[in-house]
Amino acid sequence: MDPVGAAAAQDLAISTAAERLAHLVQPVAEAEDVALRHAQGRVLARDIVSPIDVPPHDNSAMDGYAFDGLQLAAGQALRLRVIGTVLAGRVWSGEIGVGECVKIMTGAPMPQGLDTVVPFELAALQGDTHIVVAPGAVRRGDNRRRRGEDLKAGHSALRQGQALGPAALGLIASLGLPSAPVWRRVRVAYFSTGDEILNPGDPPREGAVYDSNGFSLMGLLTRLGVDVIDLGVVRDTPAQLEAALRAAAQQADAIVTSGGVSMGDADHTKATMAQLGEVAFWRIAMRPGRPMAVGHIRRAGHGAPALLFGLPGNPVAAMVTFLVFVRPALQRLMGAVVTDPVCLRATSSERLRKKPGRTEYQRGIVTRAADGALSARTTGPQGSGVLRSMVEANGLIVLPHEQGDVAVGDTVEVMMFDGAI
Ligand code: AMP
Ligand code: MG
Repeated sequence: MDPVGAAAAQDLAISTAAERLAHLVQPVAEAEDVALRHAQGRVLARDIVSPIDVPPHDNSAMDGYAFDGLQLAAGQALRLRVIGTVLAGRVWSGEIGVGECVKIMTGAPMPQGLDTVVPFELAALQGDTHIVVAPGAVRRGDNRRRRGEDLKAGHSALRQGQALGPAALGLIASLGLPSAPVWRRVRVAYFSTGDEILNPGDPPREGAVYDSNGFSLMGLLTRLGVDVIDLGVVRDTPAQLEAALRAAAQQADAIVTSGGVSMGDADHTKATMAQLGEVAFWRIAMRPGRPMAVGHIRRAGHGAPALLFGLPGNPVAAMVTFLVFVRPALQRLMGAVVTDPVCLRATSSERLRKKPGRTEYQRGIVTRAADGALSARTTGPQGSGVLRSMVEANGLIVLPHEQGDVAVGDTVEVMMFDGAI
């Protein structure tokens, strides 16, 4: 198949655009301490060093009987007298001699000198006072959790840049810390542009369409964990655009707009953006989402300008360019480690037409067969206005720059939505 035409040969490759974008972004550098219960989605501003050993003592991993494992001999049963019980939260202070054991509950500290636990189900009761451990039922050290096995005092528990999710929150709490040092929240203003754009709830009008981008962007931004400022729909006039961009820059660290950046548009969108800051207009070798504006909007009285992402208006193009460019850039702005989306390799169950010379993102559905094999198909028509395709897909089939047509049975890579959509 022919590569894309000569005009398109000038378009920026995705990797080049991503690299240039990364250089434009400086992380916010203001830290604050936030109570753990409000810290989900926030980003660590410092490493967290463990002040304690976790767990703080050797303890039992099972409900069972604890004893000194030195008494285990190969091929022989071990008979032990039960001399007491240790519950979680209690410390056993008595002596435990040879031939003796204690009943112990999960999490209870191991009594001094004991190192092995036989679970109830592997111990045979003998009368009211004794148990018998069958040969080979346990080895010395079994079912004991060691002090500091999760984390050692003085060691780094979590790194700066870690976004705090359920596991990280639990881990910080396990160290006894009630709050965490995090970067301040990033504020992102967004608006849609177009004379033809109506708000949902408005009566329909000939030639007009309802604003979908504003809502998709709100969802994408909120999932990312930024504070959002909704500036609604802005008409295609220089005065309105200028007012909206100025207002956005005053309130936000970054601005995301949709529409008005393609070749066919009235020049004033680009002219207005360029007049208010340093803005580059990129044509990117990708589909959907070829045109994009990227740069800064200056703001009065502030040091740093606001980042600007002018996304294309077509609803699928706006979402795909957000995922490919805006998401990693905002993670960087938030001070977070940039995480690559989960990519799976799957067998294409369809023939896909593709021109070399641009990266294509087709809306894909990955399914798993009974034997565990993954296969991918598209959602059907791939027009950049077909928003239904984003709803039905569970990922984007990424057809790389040099790739040509895909045959049935070829392996394709799928960037999974994984909670981002
Ligand atoms: P533009 O990039 O402004 O030329 O818009 C490209 C296409 O996307 C046009 O068909 C627009 O009507 C449509 N479009 C632009 N903005 C939105 C929006 N916020 N919601 C839905 N469709 C939009
Ligand atoms: Mg428009």
